[in-house]
This record gives sequence, structure tokens and C-alpha cells, in this order.
Amino acid sequence: MGKAFKVYDIHCGRCGAYILTYHKHGSGKGIIRLYFHNIIGPSEWSNLQNSSDKGKRMLQCAACSEVLGNPVLDKGNKWAFRMRKGLFHRKLKKR
Ligand SMILES: [Zn+2]
Repeated sequence: MGKAFKVYDIHCGRCGAYILTYHKHGSGKGIIRLYFHNIIGPSEWSNLQNSSDKGKRMLQCAACSEVLGNPVLDKGNKWAFRMRKGLFHRKLKKR
């Protein structure tokens, strides 16, 4: 099957605003962490892994300021947002 992944749109759980698009690899159902390198847009978030701001910025809704996730450095030295349960919605996109 190769490198299978699913594409999710992440929305704010409070106001419903679109936040970002994510490529989820692996078979796990839940989204616990959003790895920076799997965020594909918008550039505000997809460029974060190349930014000196990584690790300082929380994943925050531009519309209502709700914080959806906190930056964490994974064991493999990869940056991710640890998502706050119930504060975001994900929608599987058809490919
Ligand atoms: Zn919001």
C-alpha cells in the first residue's frame, strides 16, 4: 500500500473556524499529536517547523483565540502540537 495517509481538516471546537489541513499517517483513529512536518497548510502553520517560533507558539484559533494544542518535542526530536481533547474538530477529506 505504500505510504498511506489520510487528509484531515482541523477546525476550532469552539467557533468552528478552519484551522489547518493535516496528513495523518498510520492506522490510529485518534489525533493526539499534530506533527509539524505533516501539516500541509495554510503556510502560517505548515512553515512553523522551519521557524524559530516553533516550540513557542500554541496552536490557536485566529477567530476566537481558543487554544487547541500546545507545542511538544517528541522523543524522535520532532515537533508536534499536543491536541487538547474536545477543543477541536477533525473532518476526513475525500481524496
Ligand atoms: Zn475558534
